[in-house]
Amino acid sequence: MLNLIDTHCHIHDDDYPDAELSVQLANKCGVTKFICVGTDLQSSIQAIEFAKKHKKGGAFASVGIHPHETITNKLRTSLSEDTWKQLTALVKEPEVVAIGEFGFDFFYHKEPEARVNQTKLAKKHLDLAQATGLPVILHIREAFEPFFELIADYPQVKGVVHSFSDTPEKLERILDLPNNFCIGLNGIMTFSKSSAQLQAARSVPLDRLVLETDSPYLTPPPERGTINSIKNTLHIAEFLSDLRGEDLEHFCQATTANAKRLFLI
Ligand SMILES: [Zn+2]
Repeated sequence: MLNLIDTHCHIHDDDYPDAELSVQLANKCGVTKFICVGTDLQSSIQAIEFAKKHKKGGAFASVGIHPHETITNKLRTSLSEDTWKQLTALVKEPEVVAIGEFGFDFFYHKEPEARVNQTKLAKKHLDLAQATGLPVILHIREAFEPFFELIADYPQVKGVVHSFSDTPEKLERILDLPNNFCIGLNGIMTFSKSSAQLQAARSVPLDRLVLETDSPYLTPPPERGTINSIKNTLHIAEFLSDLRGEDLEHFCQATTANAKRLFLI
């Protein structure tokens, strides 16, 4: 059987229906490990709890605060010393294998102070990653400039640029960074009509590619229209190996090895 790792999901979230079943089905489909990614303090705590409960199912956790949390009414909490102290304390939990997701998003955030606030928050995460040696899970959407500027100060931090769906030029710039970042590809590619996005997905070197579902979002076909589940890592692997003209088994072996190497799982 194929052995797959979903490096990014949110099935630990409160409103995810039947996460229990999702884990069972995934294990049956060869998805042996997956990372529950926190998006704020509460969901980071839940990710750890979920990972403790589903250790046998292959669950791990990541803790961080999403750039969506920098909108004005959430900013006071997301940047507060108290929140940060609590988040920092969480990284000692053995289930935690990464810091994130955090980063920059100008697709949803067009407010003028977005860049400053997201930079402040990203810096906190990068400092924590540097101090702990844990890899980062980066969310960067239509906001690569501030990311490239900030990451220059952290050449040793490793991690993944999750849900990459930009151009081959952006991909090139990321791959050239001293950080040796992995690129996380998901269901977006399975329904993308953008030739630039698909070209970028073809161009990711196999030794830098990791798979993710971003469940419950971005469901790939043939499950489109349903809530995304971590078992669909297999559909994403099938689509991408086909797109890239690679043997499915070899593709799965390589991406799984990359995820293991990066997250030490
Ligand atoms: Zn996510």
